[in-house]
Amino acid sequence: MISRRECFRTVAGLPALRAAQARPRNVVIASANGLRACNRAMELLRSGADTLDAVLAGVNLNEEDPEDNTVGYGGLPNEDGIVELDASVMHGPTRRCGAVAALRNIKTPSKVARLVMEHTDHVMLVGEGALRFAKAFGFQEENLLTEKSRLAWLVWKQSLRDRSGHNNWTDGLDAPPGKPSARLRELFPHVDEATLAWAWQVAMDPPTGTINCLALNERGEMSGVTTTSGLAWKIAGRVGDSPLPGAGLWVDQDVGAAGATGRGEENIRIAGAHTVVENMRRGMDPKEACLEALRRVARNFGNDAERLAKFDLTFYALRKDGVYASASLWNARVREGKRVPARYAVNDGEGGRLELCAWLLERK
Ligand code: ASP
Repeated sequence: MISRRECFRTVAGLPALRAAQARPRNVVIASANGLRACNRAMELLRSGADTLDAVLAGVNLNEEDPEDNTVGYGGLPNEDGIVELDASVMHGPTRRCGAVAALRNIKTPSKVARLVMEHTDHVMLVGEGALRFAKAFGFQEENLLTEKSRLAWLVWKQSLRDRSGHNNWTDGLDAPPGKPSARLRELFPHVDEATLAWAWQVAMDPPTGTINCLALNERGEMSGVTTTSGLAWKIAGRVGDSPLPGAGLWVDQDVGAAGATGRGEENIRIAGAHTVVENMRRGMDPKEACLEALRRVARNFGNDAERLAKFDLTFYALRKDGVYASASLWNARVREGKRVPARYAVNDGEGGRLELCAWLLERK
């Protein structure tokens, strides 16, 4: 006989009635760049695959895609023009995790993070050690800088100015006078206008990216992965939130999973993904759990909207009973002068789609 109080609690912390009604189902959610990843992961879940196999197969598509400039191959590089990748994985059923950070020359850091989880007594390897470890497992070193990312990096270098407006990488004193845009055109005569405009835009306003992907299967098992090239133009060795269990990713097989994309520094300062999962454990639904975490971020800035407007951060949450949500600090981001609503990717067996994120603050 359980007491009335116990009736409203469960071991997992989910309300008892909801947990009793809940029937696990296949659900995959991801950041907005993860629609293909969700669809691929869902195919695998349907065939009975492990949840970690499913999300990894999904995000590997982004890691290998040169057109995704925020993840893996083709990611925007650090300030030295070198692509450095971060990734973490968590496997709910075995409660294990693995991570790599500041990994160079390997396209698929999420696969290396998984090997760290499965084949070492450690959780995270970084830099040179992570690269040596990957090579020991047969990964080939490759140059991850695509021509497009290299162009963006060069444009960024040329956009920097000292107080007198000078930059050693451009505008030599002996150069004929001309506007920076004309100079760029001269420097990159074979680059089309659209690509040059893109390079200028990412140089001026480094995009946030990253893919986070979370999955639940019909057996009620959960896993997650977050993989990224991190902040464009970062200092070499900078590590963001993505590879940090508890910040960029957290999975608790009893409660649910959460992940994040956006400005990693602010997420680390509130241990975001762990906070979201703990919020769900305390009974918040996934949307409220994400919004509460975002309120902590806002609180760290004294709720000063002007400073908060300088970055974005999005949380993704998938509860063990299949309920999911995502919430962004801002309702929309401004891209090339246009307001783009914050969205995330979902496949719950009814087909892949983008859904609108909840949001804490509204851009005027
Ligand atoms: N969270 C990533 C980082 O800070 C970047 C991003 O999601 O855009 O490294």
